[in-house]
Amino acid sequence: MKAKLFYLLPIIVLTGIICMGTMPAYAAKIRVVATFTDLADFAREIGGDLVEVHSLATGVEDSHGVPMKPSFVPMMNRADLLVLVGLDCEHAFLPALIEASKNPRIEVNRAGYVDCSLGITPVDVPKTTEHYAGDVHPYGNPHYMLDPVLAKTAIANIYNALVEFAPQHKAEFTRNRDAYLAKLNAKITEWERETKPLKGLKFVSYHEHWPYFAARFGMDFFGTIELRPGIDPTPRHIEELIAAMKAAHVPIVVREPQFPEKVPKRIAEQTGATMVTFPVMPGGVPHTETYIKMMDYIVHTMVAAAQARK
Ligand SMILES: [Zn+2]
Ligand SMILES: [Zn+2]
Repeated sequence: MKAKLFYLLPIIVLTGIICMGTMPAYAAKIRVVATFTDLADFAREIGGDLVEVHSLATGVEDSHGVPMKPSFVPMMNRADLLVLVGLDCEHAFLPALIEASKNPRIEVNRAGYVDCSLGITPVDVPKTTEHYAGDVHPYGNPHYMLDPVLAKTAIANIYNALVEFAPQHKAEFTRNRDAYLAKLNAKITEWERETKPLKGLKFVSYHEHWPYFAARFGMDFFGTIELRPGIDPTPRHIEELIAAMKAAHVPIVVREPQFPEKVPKRIAEQTGATMVTFPVMPGGVPHTETYIKMMDYIVHTMVAAAQARK
């Protein structure tokens, strides 16, 4: 009897320690579905071993129209948390998907519906409620994630949702978040230093992805190839854009990988500008698998393109 207890005790004590430190192996992980790869990256950083994260987008998709896959509905049906950009960015695909997945945890206004735009003041909010057909920015520009300082609002929202869902793991989430924020803040300082030569640099892009990015780093977001968000350019708009770019000596054309290269390339050729291809979420082009790697890629490519012209 004594001998048995002698062997059992350490096992009981050890089990207790393991359970206190991390979730026991048999416990299910917190299931997070993120719409985009940047939000998935943040959820993995904050959640660590406690979460299992899936992203609907892989990074190359149009941020306003991620194509449906049969795997999405069961994935959303099992989700504990749904993490999204908000400001109607996902309007074209998410509401129908939430409806089809029949999961009350992640419905709008439930605790599992994690709108990362809470706390963001959007720019370019339309002044009237009357929208032209196809306008995909009805609540203002939703591409705040391309400003790494504003991206910290998304990090805060994801952290809060994880703590609310699993308060017993608050200490671990806090540790993970703080470690990641330390890394990100160091990178922001680096990016601010690296973009100093770009102050006032004018650039155009295909879609209105870049006003927050430009404001953060002191660049001049000159205009878009699209007529309006979600509306294809007309020949007249392209003609006017080319004339305005020539007059203002705009040196850079940004093409997002989800849009065809033909029109941006032609505009760059006709204005003497340099075309660069920038992802709008991690994975959009090779070597941009994480948010930090993506911002590194964008900043370094922009600096190199501007320097090559001098
Ligand atoms: Zn947009
Ligand atoms: Zn750098």
